[in-house]
Amino acid sequence: MAGIDIEGLATVYPNGVRAVDGLDLHVADGEFFALLGPSGCGKTTLLRTIAGLENASEGTVRIDVADVTRMEPGKRGVAMVFQDYALFPHMTVSENITYPLKVRRVAAATRTATAGRTSSELSLQGLLERRPGQLSGGQQQRVALARAIASEGKVLLLDEPLSNLDARLRLEARTFLKKLQRDLGITTVFVTHDQAEALALADRIAVMQNGRLRQLGSPREVFARPANTFVANFIGSTPMNLLDGAVAAVSDGGSVSVANGSLPAATGSVPAGAEVTVGVRPEYLTLSDGDVNGPSLRGEVVVAENLGTSSLVSVDCGGTLIGVTVPEESEPAPGTSVVLTAPEQRVLLYDRESGELLA
Ligand code: ATP
Repeated sequence: MAGIDIEGLATVYPNGVRAVDGLDLHVADGEFFALLGPSGCGKTTLLRTIAGLENASEGTVRIDVADVTRMEPGKRGVAMVFQDYALFPHMTVSENITYPLKVRRVAAATRTATAGRTSSELSLQGLLERRPGQLSGGQQQRVALARAIASEGKVLLLDEPLSNLDARLRLEARTFLKKLQRDLGITTVFVTHDQAEALALADRIAVMQNGRLRQLGSPREVFARPANTFVANFIGSTPMNLLDGAVAAVSDGGSVSVANGSLPAATGSVPAGAEVTVGVRPEYLTLSDGDVNGPSLRGEVVVAENLGTSSLVSVDCGGTLIGVTVPEESEPAPGTSVVLTAPEQRVLLYDRESGELLA
């Protein structure tokens, strides 16, 4: 078991692209850690640099304290699962799983024992003599995981491990992966562009943009308090409302004027009159048909979108559209007059220019 320490890391491709651009990161021993961000933000490059498949241009990578920055991939103690699984088509499942041991000249009896143990950990019993072409996508993915685990690396690196599975299998595999990681306790870094997957699986998430870290935190933190409007936009299955607003006079208590009214807000040290971007998640807004105590917004329901057990209601508040999530059974009809408010701690203030969280 081992932690990963990354300091001042940059990975520059020969064409000059700084895919990883000055990154500091600590992954704790046994942690399930997600690298999350839009396509091209550098997550795969970062994973490959940890594995030694790309050369670091600046900075250091340490695994289990040892500096591995210039070490060849095979000596770093990492096991990697690629997005396309990279199984050997001509080998059986058993041969695929034990291939890394064969390369290290581990005795045949030990290899057979390892194949037996990992295949039962990954629910692959009965499939050991098949070839990858005779397996479902989910089974192939588990063989790739089994091979990585059998190699007994100190850390497990997973590149978009679930992206080749269909929606139903992906949910099943998610649960399986989470349980497996917890049971094995192996330090795991996985890359995903799917925010829901990162929120569901990870102990902590690093959100990346343009090769840099934009936020590092638990799923709860990055969801409830995005550090900037980039993360606010990226996280959440319904987008956060980001609205122009201004901090109200102190005499009005903690509130921020927005659209045709105001919302309660813990304004902290942000001065009265400051123009800000107000962030509030649809899930944290409440919708009522009568008066509410304290700051609120009045509006009219435009449309409601069914999300399964809940509905996303669009409310027109004096020309500004605001999304509110409500339980499916309390979905109001279009044209209904409503009042919106939110708990003070759920209303976030961002700098209008930089997009960074102020309070
Ligand atoms: P995706 O989710 O699409 O895989 P990503 O976040 O994993 O994206 P990377 O694949 O790490 O991003 O790419 C980061 C940047 O580096 C992109 O601008 C990409 O075009 C560039 N890049 C990736 N691989 C190479 C390469 N071999 N040579 C040059 N540029 C590259």
